[in-house]
Amino acid sequence: MPRYFIWTIGCQMNKAESQQIAGYLDSAGYQAAGSFSNADLVVLNTCVVRQNAENKVLGTLGLLKGLKSKRPGLQILITGCFVNSHTQELQRRFPHIDLLFKPGDYLELIAWGKNQGIPIEQRPLCYPSNNGWTAPSPCTFTPIIQGCDNFCSYCIVPYRRGREMSRPVKEIVCETEELVGQGIKEITLLGQNVDSYGHDLPGHPDLADLLSELSSIGDLIRIRFLTNHPKDISLKLIEAMASLNKVCEYLELPVQAGDDDILKVMRRGYTVEQYRELVHTIRSKVPQISLSTDIIVGFPGETEEQFEHSLSIIKEMRFDVVHVAAYSPRPGTIAQREYQDSIPAEVKKERLNKIEELQVSIASEINSQLWGKEMEVLVEGRKGGKWFGRTQSNKLVFFEDTGDWLGHLAKVQINKTSPWSLKGQVKK
Ligand code: SF4
Repeated sequence: MPRYFIWTIGCQMNKAESQQIAGYLDSAGYQAAGSFSNADLVVLNTCVVRQNAENKVLGTLGLLKGLKSKRPGLQILITGCFVNSHTQELQRRFPHIDLLFKPGDYLELIAWGKNQGIPIEQRPLCYPSNNGWTAPSPCTFTPIIQGCDNFCSYCIVPYRRGREMSRPVKEIVCETEELVGQGIKEITLLGQNVDSYGHDLPGHPDLADLLSELSSIGDLIRIRFLTNHPKDISLKLIEAMASLNKVCEYLELPVQAGDDDILKVMRRGYTVEQYRELVHTIRSKVPQISLSTDIIVGFPGETEEQFEHSLSIIKEMRFDVVHVAAYSPRPGTIAQREYQDSIPAEVKKERLNKIEELQVSIASEINSQLWGKEMEVLVEGRKGGKWFGRTQSNKLVFFEDTGDWLGHLAKVQINKTSPWSLKGQVKK
């Protein structure tokens, strides 16, 4: 049965509307989930009365972007006062949102459901929601640093999220210990730029220090973090990844473009050669590393030749995952102020498709090499009658078994591969 999770902030009206939305989703056969991480559909019911509330909405959307990149089937809906004042901006900035609907506009929700094959029925108001308990995922996400000081020319985050602010190591460790006590086995540390972690804290601990502290928590078996910045990632962090067993061999390292001139106007702070050397160092220290990257196509002025350079870096680096996005101007950013959005939408789309096609073939080849291998999977849940979970390298693996594997490590022998996931047989 598909599951939903509704996240609500703001006034009593929002809370009441969330209960109504729960009623609509119950009517479509959905079941309440305990958190984002074990939901198939998420609704954000938002408030913009204070800046603080708006910041929380943005933070949660950021978290969900990460979640959707791990589980592309996740559906994300947004409603509440945020939608009234920011619809267009939201649509541009968060392409991972499936539906925006105005507060109380349930006809829009029903119509969307119809398109998706989700039979949402008209419900009476004040429908008592079935907020039942569901088995929790063993994986969780923890923000460790808010904001960003980088000001990449296309990015609104520093304006909306403010300057970097790290959470103290002690606080994160205590929270993690508590979560582990409740059954959490894997933690993903979050930040717009996790490499900046700690510079604003007394004694300047860094991410490597935090990883080392977290590694000593007995029943925690895996630690991940995202997102890194190629200009900021340190050798110390790479060495920590190599030496700490619980730290997963997976990095999200956005390159954004494969052309030095475009990187310069993006204000990314590195060249293609520097990125290349960095990946070389990472791969020499952590040979099993799985790499994910982000690419923007159609940045103002991007020529066909410059776009070809982005294709070249993908071919050369052979990333496990590439997230590609077409450039869209964001009000208030340097790029929006200084450059005309000169690349036609259809050209951006064409470039985006070319990257996606290329990446499908690369990911197919990479994953096909895993055929026959035995992989350790932390089981996160069940879908379509199959257990699913991730390897250390963040590969999604499905297997069938009648046992209860939730939260356990399973050794799975891979017998089917695709660009997006693997299937196999559990070894007992
Ligand atoms: S793209 Fe990332 S590093 Fe650059 S400004 Fe935005 S959040 Fe910061």
